[in-house]
Amino acid sequence: MLIQLFESCSPQQLDSIVKRVRELGYKPTFVKTFSNRYLVCIGTAEVDIRTIGTLPGVKDVHVVEDPNKLVSRQWRVTPTSIDLGDGVTISRSQFTIAAGPCSIESEEQVVKTVSFLKEQNVSIMRGGVFKPRSSPYAFRGLGIEGLELFARHCRANGIKVVSEVMQVSQIEPMYPYVDIFQVGTRNAQNFNLLDELGKVNKPVLLKRGMSQTLTDFLASAEYIFSSGNERIILCERGIRAFEKEYRNTLDLNAIPYLKDKSHLPVFCDPSHGIGIREYVEPMALAAQMAGADGVLLEIHETPEKAVSDGQQTLNFEEAQQVFRKLRMLENMNIDMMG
Ligand code: PEP
Ligand code: MN
Repeated sequence: MLIQLFESCSPQQLDSIVKRVRELGYKPTFVKTFSNRYLVCIGTAEVDIRTIGTLPGVKDVHVVEDPNKLVSRQWRVTPTSIDLGDGVTISRSQFTIAAGPCSIESEEQVVKTVSFLKEQNVSIMRGGVFKPRSSPYAFRGLGIEGLELFARHCRANGIKVVSEVMQVSQIEPMYPYVDIFQVGTRNAQNFNLLDELGKVNKPVLLKRGMSQTLTDFLASAEYIFSSGNERIILCERGIRAFEKEYRNTLDLNAIPYLKDKSHLPVFCDPSHGIGIREYVEPMALAAQMAGADGVLLEIHETPEKAVSDGQQTLNFEEAQQVFRKLRMLENMNIDMMG
C-alpha cells in the first residue's frame, strides 16, 4: 500500500496515520522527496483503503502489490518525465539520444565531440571521468579536472552532461558539473551510493547490474526514490549470460517489462550491451522499437585511438547514420500512433 500525503500534513496528522497503518498490520516508512511526501506501507492484510483515504493529511491511497512500491506504475499512471532545463526533457513522449566517448580524454576531444553533437542536434553528452576498469592498469579517467572542461564546453553549447559517479565522496565535487549522475553496472547495488544519490537534487541514470534480475534492478531504483530523489532513468546495458561471442547479452526483453512495471523513463545502452561496433546500430534501432525512451551511445572521432571501449564505439559518420535512422523510426512511430 502506498499513501500520498499532503505537503501540509502536520506531524500530529502523520502520527495518527502511522498509528492506523500499524493497527492494520502494516509496516510504514515515511518518505520525503524533493517534491512529495509518502508513507510506504509493507504488509499483506486485506484493507479497505477508504478507511485511510479519509484521514486528515492523506492525499491519496493506492494498493501496490509490486515489491518496489515507489517506482511502480501501479499507482503513478502518468509516466515520470525529467526536465533538465533549457528545453531538454526526458520522457516517454519523445526519444532521447545521449552520446559521447566512453572516457573524457582531452580538451580537443571534448571540443570536437561537442561541436559534432551540436550540429546533430543531440543535447546530452556522456563521458566518464572516473572509470570503473576491470584491470587496475587500464586508464582510470581524468577525474574532476576532466569533468570541469567537459562541462565548460557543454554548457557553452547548451548540451547537458551525464557522467558516472563511482563512490559517495565523488558526489559533492561532481555536483556543480553534471546534469545527470550515472550509476554504472558495477555499482548498481552499491546501496550507500544509491542512498546518497537520493539526497541529491539532480537526476540519476541507473544502469542495470550485469547480474541483476529486473526486480532487483527496480529495488535499486527504489533505494534512490525512497531516500528522496524521484528523478531516475533506468538503463538496460546488457547482462552476463553464457554467450561469449559478444561482450554482454543485451536484454531487450527488459525494455517493455520495465516500461510496464515502472513509471520511470527507460533507456538502453547498446554500446555496452553488445560491445561490437558493427552491431551497435541494429541493437539501437531494436531498442527503440522495443519501446526505449532513449539510448546512450559511445562515439568518438577516431574510435581506434579511444583510450577505452574503442571496439564498441561509433565514429562520427556511423553515429550520424544511427541518429538519422533513430529519428526516422521515431517519426514513423508518431505517425503510426496518430
Ligand atoms: C560506461 O558507460 O562507460 C560504463 C562503464 O558503463 P557500464 O557501467 O554499463 O559498464
Ligand atoms: Mn564504456
